[in-house]
Amino acid sequence: MSNQLIDSFGREVNYLRVSVTDRCDFRCTYCMSENMTFLPKKDILSLEELETICNVFIKLGTKKIRLTGGEPLVRKGILNLIKNLGNKIGDGLDELTLTTNGSQLEKYAEILKENGVNRVNVSLDHLDPSKFREITRWGDLDKVLAGIEKAKSVGIKVKINTVALKDFNENNILQMIEWCSLNEYDMTLIEVMPMGDIGSENRFNQYLPLSEVKKRLSKKFKLTNIPKKTGGPARYYKIEGKKIDLGFITPLTHNFCESCNRVRLTCTGILYMCLGQDDNVDLKSILRNKGSYFLENSLFKAISKKPKGHDFNISKSGINISSNRHMSVTGG
Ligand code: SAM
Ligand code: SF4
Repeated sequence: MSNQLIDSFGREVNYLRVSVTDRCDFRCTYCMSENMTFLPKKDILSLEELETICNVFIKLGTKKIRLTGGEPLVRKGILNLIKNLGNKIGDGLDELTLTTNGSQLEKYAEILKENGVNRVNVSLDHLDPSKFREITRWGDLDKVLAGIEKAKSVGIKVKINTVALKDFNENNILQMIEWCSLNEYDMTLIEVMPMGDIGSENRFNQYLPLSEVKKRLSKKFKLTNIPKKTGGPARYYKIEGKKIDLGFITPLTHNFCESCNRVRLTCTGILYMCLGQDDNVDLKSILRNKGSYFLENSLFKAISKKPKGHDFNISKSGINISSNRHMSVTGG
């Protein structure tokens, strides 16, 4: 048997996204409700358990690990995990990275860089402080911007993730592109995905097809498709006269599954083979009931079950939650 994780469609799985906590210091309206109930501590993998599972993945050919959440930088002790995984860079692992809301970045950027984190994705949906507060409910734009600047100053490459939201930031996207270009941050626009209950908010009201955004941007700029292959759902464009690559993540309007190279580990130890499907394996039970020795074999079995593609769906009348999992549990 090969020592690599290859699924039944021949796709090599070498990228692991890990949600290290479901907790967060923001309450973005498209991600969770304001009074979100978080999981009991006993259901969450300890940092040691997270590390054990990551190490088995690295042994089986995982080259890139992205820590996410929830907000990864609010998990107590997270720097220990970052340090230990950082030590694996060059010893199996090529890259350790994070997706963060940026609230703690000013405090941690330096230590992240020291531990081998050279790139981070920071989520930022608006450049107006009151709009930023509205979408995150609890966020402070100045703090996030200070975190982004700090990351840049210590040499961490920043990519900005922006969820495109109807009637909210569609008219701010141009300003964000200009700001990213000025600061040389790449930018990725994301379509809102139907994941988890978000209380009284209606996703259809939030949904803005990126095909529409692209059409509008094309009237203003010359966009040239660039063959940047990440194995993920983003398609990248150069914008004439701007210093950024602009990515579009369109899970609802474009099928990106044929080159998918990733799986996701939830903070509860469930391995999901696809963001938009429920095929999963409970690695926490295997680890806690049988022991780490059994993880390797379980991973081979799990990867062989990776589905061909997702089936997200969003419609005015239909059920708009195709997955009951919150993005914060599964890891965006
Ligand atoms: N808290 C960190 C952050 O916001 O970057 C990491 C976790 S967050 C779940 C990861 C990414 O998922 C963020 O860029 C966020 O905007 C995005 N996200 C959350 N819920 C989403 C949804 N329903 N549809 C599309 N993107 C979503
Ligand atoms: Fe928190 Fe990120 Fe979800 Fe916003 S998108 S509530 S920052 S986990």
